[in-house]
Amino acid sequence: MPAWICARCAVQYPDTPAPPPSCPICEDEREAVPPSGQRWMDPVELRREHRTEIRDEEPGLTGIGVTPEFGIGQRALLVRTDAGNVLWDCVPLLDEPGRRAIDDLGGLSAICLSHPHFYAAHLEFAEAFDVPVFLPRADERWIPRRSPRIELFDDEVEPVPGVTVARIGGHFDGACVLHWPGGSDGRGALLTGDTIMVVEDRGWVSFMWSYPNLIPLDAGTIAEIARRVGRFRFERVYGGWWGHVVLDDGAAAVRRSAERYIDRLRGERP
Ligand SMILES: [Zn+2]
Ligand SMILES: [Zn+2]
Repeated sequence: MPAWICARCAVQYPDTPAPPPSCPICEDEREAVPPSGQRWMDPVELRREHRTEIRDEEPGLTGIGVTPEFGIGQRALLVRTDAGNVLWDCVPLLDEPGRRAIDDLGGLSAICLSHPHFYAAHLEFAEAFDVPVFLPRADERWIPRRSPRIELFDDEVEPVPGVTVARIGGHFDGACVLHWPGGSDGRGALLTGDTIMVVEDRGWVSFMWSYPNLIPLDAGTIAEIARRVGRFRFERVYGGWWGHVVLDDGAAAVRRSAERYIDRLRGERP
């Protein structure tokens, strides 16, 4: 039986005979059910119409997307280190060329996800490469498909030695970032999905409870996100979509973006 994929958000649900009655991710106030109603696809249907897209981001970092774009159009990132490879976030599709490309890059050691909007085909990837998926306990209620491969953590986990996944909260209680010290030529990179969103003006980021519905976070939460990220050293910030990258001075970009946001919330900017 094929697993069911929500056509709106691309989250994958269990392989039941009939599709689920609804998609809890889309029903949540952070997302939206399309005006045309809930629609489901299965992986076979998805593979017929879409394929994996692989692009180098920088030495040791590869983007994995789906073309034509599907769901929320995200791209995952494969972080390669001497201690093993980590898939950060996920896409809804794993096809044969995609699987071969990942094999050629050294395969996977672990999968980590920034937050439930990126809970796509991660269990298919986990089965294919025989690896664990690390998820924050704080978002346990959003796990759409149970598996013994899922390992829950509280605030922090090292999926491979030297790489840290840390819970920062905000967009979701369990919202996480991945710190890769070897990124950006040894100056460090922070991978964020949209738990910290790289915005159009590439020297800046932002923070939201809901992006599609434009619901902001409160000042205290944003200050806490900045504090939790403040201990990491990084030059680049990689968001969850192609081209969403802060190339330089990323740590300062997060700091000043948090300050600007809090100032706006408090009416301290004209
Ligand atoms: Zn959905
Ligand atoms: Zn999101």
